[in-house]
Amino acid sequence: MSAYQKRIGAKAWLILVLVIFLTGVAYCQLDARKEVKIPDILGYHLLKCDFHTHTVFSDGNVWPIIRPEEAWLQGLDALAITDHIEYTPHKKDVVSTSSRSYEIALPTAKARNITLIRGAEITRDMPPGHLNAIFLKDVKPLDTETWRDAVKAAHDQGAFIFWNHPGWKGQQPDGVGKWYDEHTELLKNGWLQGIEVVNDRDYYPEAHRWCLEKNLTMLGDSDVHDPIDMSFDLARGQHRPMTLVLAKDNSEEAIKEALLARRTVVYWTNCLIGKAEYLRPIFDNSIRIKNPDLTLKGTERGYFQIRNSSDIDYELVLDKQIEDFWVPETITLYADRTVFFIVRSKSKEISGEKKLEPSYKVKNLKISPEDGLPVTLKFNITFVKEK
Ligand SMILES: [Zn+2]
Ligand SMILES: [Zn+2]
Repeated sequence: MSAYQKRIGAKAWLILVLVIFLTGVAYCQLDARKEVKIPDILGYHLLKCDFHTHTVFSDGNVWPIIRPEEAWLQGLDALAITDHIEYTPHKKDVVSTSSRSYEIALPTAKARNITLIRGAEITRDMPPGHLNAIFLKDVKPLDTETWRDAVKAAHDQGAFIFWNHPGWKGQQPDGVGKWYDEHTELLKNGWLQGIEVVNDRDYYPEAHRWCLEKNLTMLGDSDVHDPIDMSFDLARGQHRPMTLVLAKDNSEEAIKEALLARRTVVYWTNCLIGKAEYLRPIFDNSIRIKNPDLTLKGTERGYFQIRNSSDIDYELVLDKQIEDFWVPETITLYADRTVFFIVRSKSKEISGEKKLEPSYKVKNLKISPEDGLPVTLKFNITFVKEK
């Protein structure tokens, strides 16, 4: 090879390395995480979690590392892979050993600071139906003849166990979950700590009610089998259902402690579902009245500005008419926007300092299947005499 040929060879290599480097950089730039904007509350982090997902190691259609990659892109903090124990239709192509999906996904999850939780779906006929066990140490002992032995084996490992999709039409053709004696038995044995109030696109009001009555943890999970964006298109403003966990940090221990203490809120479509004690501070921390004090003359309109820094459009409906003022009957506080809240005195003769505290219900902050969270907005108006 001549010196000229060597030089050309070196140049070609340099160009090739540059092309690889630049395309690599360009590719990395495509990875941008969509943060979920729902504020922390009560001194806890509000972790965004999905505790129910599948891979090719059961009846899912993705390789395990895709799950933590999707989770990172979609703003999650924690994820459980919960392949079916008893249903493995890809087993001719994918050698399924206990927890293999978790082991494969773990390095990808760690690199993205996603807490990956080892889980499994105990997949039995109704009753009791499908149950997820998470924080397992070993999935194998759950592969038993009877469902009781499987649940007991999960419980003996210190798992957190919850009832999946109680109203799934595959088991409840009318789409309404039914509470069976077997569920009472699970509860009495301390083998059931929570229920999916939301699974995929479905909300189960009966499950919501059971969680309130029996003090169980509310969960909302995707139960995703395909790539997540085949079901929920972020570009069109959609998101998977999530369990928001009020935890001290995103360690497994802290998440488990929070789940056992029932500190969760379910995020589904444009709704939050949970106890008032959690929904109220979420609302309060999302909202800011930018100009809470106005000076007005008589029946002049007052324009308060309300900023909502969360991802949720809060839909408010007036609870009780206010005697001396016109206030909006309904108002939507749009996500990441500031809207006007327009008020007007009914009387021209009004004067002095007035406190205006209208009460609304936030329709999409569900404290029960029927009720939205009651909130009170607070404004001050000083009325000066019209000249
Ligand atoms: Zn299931
Ligand atoms: Zn499932």
